[in-house]
Amino acid sequence: MNQSPLKDKFGRVHDYLRISLIERCNLRCTYCMPEEGIVLRDKSEFMRPEEIIEMAKTFVSLGVTKIRLTGGEPLFRKGADLVIRELGKLPVELTMTTNGVLIERYIDILKSAGIKSINISLDSLSRDRFEQITRRDQFDRVIENIALLKKGGFEVKVNVVLMKGVNDDEIIDLIEWGEREDLSIRFIEFMPFDGNQWNSEKKVTEHEILDIVNVHYPDKNLQQLPIGKNATARKYQIEGKRQHFGIISTISNPFCDSCNRIRLTADGKIKNCLFSQSETDLLTTMRKGGDITEQIVDTIIGKRRSRGGYDAFDDATVEKMENRSMVTIGG
Ligand code: SAM
Ligand code: SF4
Repeated sequence: MNQSPLKDKFGRVHDYLRISLIERCNLRCTYCMPEEGIVLRDKSEFMRPEEIIEMAKTFVSLGVTKIRLTGGEPLFRKGADLVIRELGKLPVELTMTTNGVLIERYIDILKSAGIKSINISLDSLSRDRFEQITRRDQFDRVIENIALLKKGGFEVKVNVVLMKGVNDDEIIDLIEWGEREDLSIRFIEFMPFDGNQWNSEKKVTEHEILDIVNVHYPDKNLQQLPIGKNATARKYQIEGKRQHFGIISTISNPFCDSCNRIRLTADGKIKNCLFSQSETDLLTTMRKGGDITEQIVDTIIGKRRSRGGYDAFDDATVEKMENRSMVTIGG
C-alpha cells in the first residue's frame, strides 16, 4: 500500500505539481484571458522566486516527483531563470507549458536545468487566425522557437485548444504538420473559465475529432494506444504514421479517476482541481513562518471525486460556476 501523505480519499496519489509563475501574459488568447484583461495586483501578493522554490521543496518532501511550470506565461515572469535553475536541482522531472514567444532567450537555461520535454500552445497554422485567437502578432516567433527547441533536442508537444467554427477545420492539417515536424499534437477540449465566453456548442468532442480523422483517412486503421498511468491525453495512432496524436477531453470524457495533479497559483494558493470551488492559501501561512504541510495534506484529502464536484458541464451549470479565469489559475 502506498503511504504517500498526498493520497486522497479515493486512493489517488498526488505526485505532480503545476506551479504558475505569473498571472500575466504576453498573449491574450480568447479562451484563457478575459477580453478586458485581468486586474493587476500588487507584486507583494505573488510568490517571490525564493518562496516558489521553498514551496516546491516542501511538495517534493511530500512525494512530488514531477513539476510543470506554467502561468500566465511562465517565461514572461521576471526571475523565471532563477526558479528554473533552482528547481532543476530538485529530484523531479521538470517541465513547462509555454506559448513559445520567449523561448529563444531561455533555451540554454531550460537545457541546463535538465528539461527534456516542453509543451507549446499553438492553435492554428494560419498567421491571421493565430492573431485572431491570441490577439497578438507572434505566430512567426512561435514557429521559429518550436524549430529551435527541436534543434536543441527537446521533445515538443503542441497543445491545440479546439473551438468549433474557429480552428476545428485544421485538425488534419495539424496532424500532418506534426508528422512532418516530428511534433506530438494534443487536441484540448475548450473548457469553461471566468471571462472566456464558453458554451457547450463551442467545444469539439473526442468523438467529433475521431470522426474527422476517420473520414480523412478512410483506408487507414486508427488505433487507440494504451493509456499511460495518470495520463490526461488519450493517444491515437494513424496507421503508417510515425507520430501519434492525443485528445484531452476534460469535459466530455474526463480522466479524474487517475488524477495526480495539484495546482499552485502565482499568488501562493493551492487548488486540488482545475475546477475546485475552494483554494488554500499557503503563501500567507509561509510568510507568517507557519508550516504549510498540514494545509497541503488537508487540501488533498478534501479533493472531490471528479471535476471539482461538478457532475455536469451543461450551459446552465457553467453559467453559475465561479472560478478564476484560466490565465490566473495556470493550466
Ligand atoms: N502561457 C502558457 C501557454 O499558453 O502554454 C501556459 C499557460 S496556459 C493557461 C496553459 C494551457 O492551458 C495552454 O495549453 C492553453 O492552451 C490551455 N488553456 C487555456 N485556456 C483553456 C481553456 N479555456 N480550455 C482548454 N485549455 C485551455
Ligand atoms: Fe497566455 Fe497561455 Fe493564456 Fe494564451 S493560453 S493567454 S498564452 S496564458
